[in-house]
Amino acid sequence: MVLLLLLLMGEAAASQGDREPVYRGCLTRCEQHNCTGARLWTFRAQQPAYMRLTGWTCKDDCSYECMWYTVALYVKEGHKVPQFHGKWPFSRFLFFQEPASAFASLLNGLANFIMLNRYRTSVPPSSPMYHTCVAFACVSLNAWVWSTVFHTRDTDVTEKLDYFCASAVILHSIYLCGVRTLGLKRPAFALFFASFLILLFACHVSYLSLGRFDYGYNMAANVAFGLVNLLWWLGWCLRNQAYLPYVWKCEVVVLLLQALALLELLDFPPLLWVFDAHALWHLSTVPVHVLFYSFLVDDSHHLLKENPSDVKID
Ligand SMILES: [Zn+2]
Repeated sequence: MVLLLLLLMGEAAASQGDREPVYRGCLTRCEQHNCTGARLWTFRAQQPAYMRLTGWTCKDDCSYECMWYTVALYVKEGHKVPQFHGKWPFSRFLFFQEPASAFASLLNGLANFIMLNRYRTSVPPSSPMYHTCVAFACVSLNAWVWSTVFHTRDTDVTEKLDYFCASAVILHSIYLCGVRTLGLKRPAFALFFASFLILLFACHVSYLSLGRFDYGYNMAANVAFGLVNLLWWLGWCLRNQAYLPYVWKCEVVVLLLQALALLELLDFPPLLWVFDAHALWHLSTVPVHVLFYSFLVDDSHHLLKENPSDVKID
């Protein structure tokens, strides 16, 4: 799976569509014709305000039009639909570049927001994991906001913010697991572990921000973070499932997230030019948040009931 993901990401940097001379010729003509001098003023005057406010430029419009021009030629001649700059062609809706993924990201954010509120109303702040869980929810919420922004408008900056915030969620989930399994009785370990993860995240972001974005490394790093997260949580669940009846929720979540990630491997051209594997993957994770927060609520109540000195440390 790791190798497959790396192969997929390796392809992301360059694509058939944007290398196509028909596309390049169309782009040059369109930009010269529409995006210079008086024509540019006309374009700006006619552009709807919501497009201008979300940063759509004349050149972006040319890319969009030329992409569909090229796709139509490919389809007419019976060739496979090409990708452009590592992405399938998507039908724009208003200013939403990838409407399905943007909407699914919004739903994920909403699910996180609702479940965070539910957590805060049902768990007292004195529960040992309360603040770590709330912080995790905030980091997740932030990631879904940037995912929504990225799928609405794909730029170098929004792409990096989406990737970095997603990595922060996985690292925070590892931190959550570290505190739950080892840190509750060892505050010094929790502090050291947090410092280590922040340093790791800073190195990760620095490497990807300096110079050209290394897609292969980014995917490899996230797969590695994901595996540590999966194995640590799963190991803890298996050791505790005999006497913590709610642990199955956590098991289902980590296994389901891993299984759903396989959806990403079904790389097919978007159905109706809207639903691709990435959008389906984002849609599929919405209910998983409900189950994970339900686990966090049960676990926080359990820890509250237990005398802190009785908390099982693995
Ligand atoms: Zn996404």
